[in-house]
Amino acid sequence: MISNPDVIICGAGIAGLLTGAVLSHKGLKTLVLEKTNRVGGRSNSIEFKEGYVVDNGLHVIRYVKKSPTWKIFKKYLGIKLDLINLGDTKYFANGKWHDYPLSVRALGTTTLFNQDEKTVFGKILVEDILKAKIEPFLEKDVASWINEVENKHDFHSKNARFFLETLAKFMLVSPGMLDLLSVGEFIEGIQTGAKASAGAAYPRGGWKPLIEQLCDIIKKNGSIELNSKVEKVIIEAGKVQGVMSEGNKIQADTVIVNMPCTQIFSVLDEKLFDPAFIQKCKSIRPSAGIFMDFGLRGKISENNGSNISAEPFTMSIFTSNIDPSVAPEGEQLYTILQPTTPEILQDKEKRDEIINGMNNLIEKMFPGFSDLVLWKRVSVGHVVDGAIPLISQHQKIRPSVKGPFQGLYFTGDTYNGPGTGGEIAHSSALLCIQQVLNDLNIE
Ligand SMILES: Cc1cc2nc3c(=O)[nH]c(=O)nc-3n(C[C@H](O)[C@H](O)[C@H](O)COP(=O)(O)OP(=O)(O)OC[C@H]3O[C@@H](n4cnc5c(N)ncnc54)[C@H](O)[C@@H]3O)c2cc1C
Repeated sequence: MISNPDVIICGAGIAGLLTGAVLSHKGLKTLVLEKTNRVGGRSNSIEFKEGYVVDNGLHVIRYVKKSPTWKIFKKYLGIKLDLINLGDTKYFANGKWHDYPLSVRALGTTTLFNQDEKTVFGKILVEDILKAKIEPFLEKDVASWINEVENKHDFHSKNARFFLETLAKFMLVSPGMLDLLSVGEFIEGIQTGAKASAGAAYPRGGWKPLIEQLCDIIKKNGSIELNSKVEKVIIEAGKVQGVMSEGNKIQADTVIVNMPCTQIFSVLDEKLFDPAFIQKCKSIRPSAGIFMDFGLRGKISENNGSNISAEPFTMSIFTSNIDPSVAPEGEQLYTILQPTTPEILQDKEKRDEIINGMNNLIEKMFPGFSDLVLWKRVSVGHVVDGAIPLISQHQKIRPSVKGPFQGLYFTGDTYNGPGTGGEIAHSSALLCIQQVLNDLNIE
């Protein structure tokens, strides 16, 4: 372990590693303490069965060169990420595949809408989404916004409405909750996507090499200690003094906590914090989901973009169609996610119902799929994204990356970066990096 660190990072999740890599690269002696025996946290990927590199879910990088991930690597680490762009998104509705009408080209070719629907949907896309200001919409919910848009255009198509609802679920990775989801976050996602050269990309070789690259950068000027739980962040006289970990006191003037804000009071003394801040941190609602990964003996689909289904709402990718190196030659890796809520996952019957529904859906989407299955992994994620982008916890409301004491910072997917899920973790890392460098007067 390095001695006298300038910065201690509590947690080696993706946000902690991104932040740590930049600070280490900028010359700060950086110590990352991780309580488990591995790095990556929820963005971890593993070698599962021989020749398969399997992520936790579908960790694509949305908005590619407009993503916070790209910015952190390019601007702060001087590295051009090796990303593979995803192909076109396909949409499965009413038993058929359709082009996903999010670009002018796909809107022209899609079989999802009739001509009237295409005209009005095009108008909604331009007038109400691409030209809209985000701030006034952050506290407006998706359901009321759709009603307003329908009335404004005097257009009431069940089909177009249902598509807009599914689009919001896709952009915000949510099982529904349309009366609670923030339309500002939804609009911002589509606007960022429109400015990006591609909708989404995947790191070549998967997340494993990318995470290893971040660890190597940290280790050049610091260290990462596994099985090192932080028990306490020491705050005295209004300033951070260091941490207690595994019974040892480690001093540092800067401590960055990379834990979901719902858990930070396991290491921070509640008595020192404002009750409103404590309440805000503890009340952030996560999303949940069921994931299935499959290794397939042969190719069932050539699609190298996202697959979205309407009912049930799922998102899936053939990861090995995007990057063949993540599966053995001639075989195929497929991952599907159905978002749900932590409450539903508590109920075993409902959980089994979702899993059965997903299995049936997969066979409908890709007839003959089950005959090709070599192995299958079912994961139940009780906390998938740390914060769903709801009106009550949108990016401006969630806790700031700068803590209320000198030297205390936060980073991760429950803090105030824009985006959804992993993106929030990455954008909060970007905000945290900027804040720490600014406070320490480092260019
Ligand atoms: C199954 C699953 C699928 C997902 N799929 C997607 C997806 O498709 N797309 C997407 O964008 N996002 C997805 N996500 C969400 C994404 O993984 C997270 O948003 C992101 O990884 C969060 O990173 P983080 O750094 O904020 O937190 P975490 O990954 O939670 O990292 C926190 C780290 O801190 C450590 N820690 C906690 N307490 C202590 C302590 N006291 N001392 C030391 N260390 C501590 C933890 O062990 C952990 O390593 C998925 C998540 C899951 C679980």
